[in-house]
Amino acid sequence: MLYKRSSALFAEAETVIPGGVNSPVRAFKAVGGTPIFIKKAMGAYLIDEDDNQYIDYINSWGPMILGHAHKPVVDAVIEKTKLGTSFGTPTEIETKIAQLAVSMVPNIEKIRFVNSGTEACMSAVRLARGYTGKDKIIKFAGCYHGHSDSFLIQAGSGAVTFGSPNSPGVTKGTAQDTLLATYNNIAHVEELLEANKGEIACVILEPVAGNMGCVPPKDGFLKKLRDLCTAHDVLLIFDEVMTGFRLAKGGAQELYGIQADLVCFGKVIGGGLPVGAFAGKAEIMDHLAPLGPVYQAGTLSGNPLAMAAGLAMLSELNQDKDIYARLADKTAYLHKGCAEVLKKHRISHTINRVGSMISIHFSETEVVDFDTAAEGNNARFKAFFHGMLKQGVYIAPSAFETWFITDALTYDDLDKTIVACDKVCSEL
Ligand SMILES: *Cc1c(COP(=O)(O)O)cnc(C)c1O
Repeated sequence: MLYKRSSALFAEAETVIPGGVNSPVRAFKAVGGTPIFIKKAMGAYLIDEDDNQYIDYINSWGPMILGHAHKPVVDAVIEKTKLGTSFGTPTEIETKIAQLAVSMVPNIEKIRFVNSGTEACMSAVRLARGYTGKDKIIKFAGCYHGHSDSFLIQAGSGAVTFGSPNSPGVTKGTAQDTLLATYNNIAHVEELLEANKGEIACVILEPVAGNMGCVPPKDGFLKKLRDLCTAHDVLLIFDEVMTGFRLAKGGAQELYGIQADLVCFGKVIGGGLPVGAFAGKAEIMDHLAPLGPVYQAGTLSGNPLAMAAGLAMLSELNQDKDIYARLADKTAYLHKGCAEVLKKHRISHTINRVGSMISIHFSETEVVDFDTAAEGNNARFKAFFHGMLKQGVYIAPSAFETWFITDALTYDDLDKTIVACDKVCSEL
């Protein structure tokens, strides 16, 4: 494949945009090479500026669960646009999408819309702190909750309890209020809760982790976490920015039968426009301004175009009784095909999968948390990524990302992907 125009566009972008990108993971730093500039996308395919076509497994990092340029979503946005793009006043469509979301997701009564997953998580944590009157939070290593200060914390050696900032610009004070736990390790959470009795506002996690590759919760992990939080009077926040409306209509709460106190959304809920949201019982949500003292606001929050895209997307998902079974079947098919190929070529691997989330780890061991995810063979992933790209299959340019299966993918596309995987693995 030729990437002539992409390379030229990237060089030009670098002169005016830091690193040439508006979000770092797009820059191919983890895999080398120059990023591909996409011109357009339809269904399961991306077309780049050099007219190369790819089967897409990134899908805008999650939102495009029904494929690109899905007609009902596109039409809804076009129609809304003609009526004006933003008013800064309440609009009827905000209530419509709120009603639909509340009807689809278990255990939530009120929902507030924001512009990104980052904002949703940041605001949910502020609300949890305001509601409980406590400052500290527990997050898990390898879970991503957007780029707000409290979440950019990683375990340093010896920093088992207190996090240290892993980005300059995050203050020590902020980092000290974020405690780090190990995913799938309930004993560790219990220790933190005991050692910080009366100080923890909330535990936040991805109920199925998707930002260290796909890492499912072990049997009983979420249930025990729920019980611990209840016992310690700590709010449980499910960050369902990735899993919400993807694993089931009601997300991971529905899939695992666990009720969180607050739930964060993003990605699918916006149908490809910038939307996030956080939700919970009225008793907690009513602490938000203007009813309560916890401040949270947004000039473009609930924007009509964004709400139109989100409403069209959620309506489609709500009406289609088989959608989640179909997605899971396709994902299982891809899993089986790739696993056979990897085995045939004697390449050590772990494949993790839940619903329409799947990831291949080039590791010798099970992948259950950040440390085991980090043990994967990165050099091999790089070669795999570039090999697949050459074969016209676009996966995320990092070993720490989930592949997203969309309804637009046909079994023919999946077969092509498996054939590509076979070719690439024969050369690894
Ligand atoms: C993508 C993501 C976020 C951040 O959402 P943005 O819209 O990129 O700000 C937060 N949490 C999870 C689990 C995500 O996958």
